Amino acid sequence: MLFTRDQTLMNHCLTLLVIALVFIIVPGNLSAQKTNSAAQNSAEGSFLGLSADNSKHHDLWAGPTDFRVSLKPIGRVRAIMLFAHFPDTVNEESTTALFDRLVPEGIAYFKQASYGKMALEVDAVHRWIPMDHPTTWPNYDCSKTETHKAYLNEVITKADSFVDFKKYDIVYVVGSLGPGHPNSPTFVVPPGEGISVQGKEIRHAVTFGNDCRRDRWGWQTLAHETGHICGLPDLYKYGAPRNPYKGIHVYVGAWDMMGFQAPGSEYLAWQKRKLLWLSDKDFAIVSDSPLKHVSEYWISPIGQKGGCKAVVAPISGSEAYVCEVRNRSDIPEMGVLLYRVLLSVGSGNGPLQVIPAAPDDNMSETERRYITLYNALFHEGVVLDDKTAKVRIEIIGRRPNGEIQVRVTR
Ligand SMILES: [Zn+2]
Repeated sequence: MLFTRDQTLMNHCLTLLVIALVFIIVPGNLSAQKTNSAAQNSAEGSFLGLSADNSKHHDLWAGPTDFRVSLKPIGRVRAIMLFAHFPDTVNEESTTALFDRLVPEGIAYFKQASYGKMALEVDAVHRWIPMDHPTTWPNYDCSKTETHKAYLNEVITKADSFVDFKKYDIVYVVGSLGPGHPNSPTFVVPPGEGISVQGKEIRHAVTFGNDCRRDRWGWQTLAHETGHICGLPDLYKYGAPRNPYKGIHVYVGAWDMMGFQAPGSEYLAWQKRKLLWLSDKDFAIVSDSPLKHVSEYWISPIGQKGGCKAVVAPISGSEAYVCEVRNRSDIPEMGVLLYRVLLSVGSGNGPLQVIPAAPDDNMSETERRYITLYNALFHEGVVLDDKTAKVRIEIIGRRPNGEIQVRVTR
């Protein structure tokens, strides 16, 4: 759906354009709030300047999250971690070691990434719950909702006598190492389709599989899967061949935890808006206008609390360019990260797509760390010049605290 505009006003403005080319120059150091309140007024019901109608989207997408289904990650979020032991376990492990691998850094990540808005608490019952069947049992198949639910249901039923499930928003289950559970899928279902226990309905859970033992797949796996519980889409590519591996991460590389989980991964500012950790007033929305206009903004790094976190330039009702300020974890200098948002596609099909400043340079160590799109940051000059969509973005200033000033011409 395209923006609706007041046709009379538009015609009037177009007439003015014929008479004289009009520039509106917005001075530098403009607060995001000023532009933003105007955008909110002109696009009632919008989500960062795009159509907010999610009635047709039941999948995970880049539009507003449906918190009737997803868990709202604001304030205290309480989880219980349980450990399921299968008869075909190939390696006996310590529940404490698994907890330490997954939880403390995961809690710290959510505290930092949410600017203190989400406080994840995870209790654990450090005993192995014996399962009736091996990991390969078809009724524990985690790739299908009903059999995934059967696995969870057995764990929850067996823990009923020693866990007060009413206290918890999320159930994390760590399965013992066996052949049948390679992945760590999330269980999220609408009200009425969850698991009933103690008068409570469990609708948000993760079953951690073998992959959470892999290098860089510990707490990062918890952060990724909890992101799904809270409504975030996958940002890697579904169905891509695993060789070369970078094909899977063609959309965002390691710039978001829902893509590749490299050191220093963060959720993109757009994702943080979905999570309600940022609001519209934390963004500058530069909508198209019949009048050519130039505006300038200081964007503060994603890891810093406060300031304008990103500039959004909608190019239709379902697409936008976004600029935010990031650094690669091995290079302190901040740069501008440019990406495109598409509401027309869902999880695993590129709802957010980074547009890199430079191609990969095939440095093996860098590729091992970041896989692809590691040269994405712009450090000076023109970031974007889309003549069709009439959006030009260039870097015009820097501050010692990492803030970067951009000029947007539309
Ligand atoms: Zn995922």
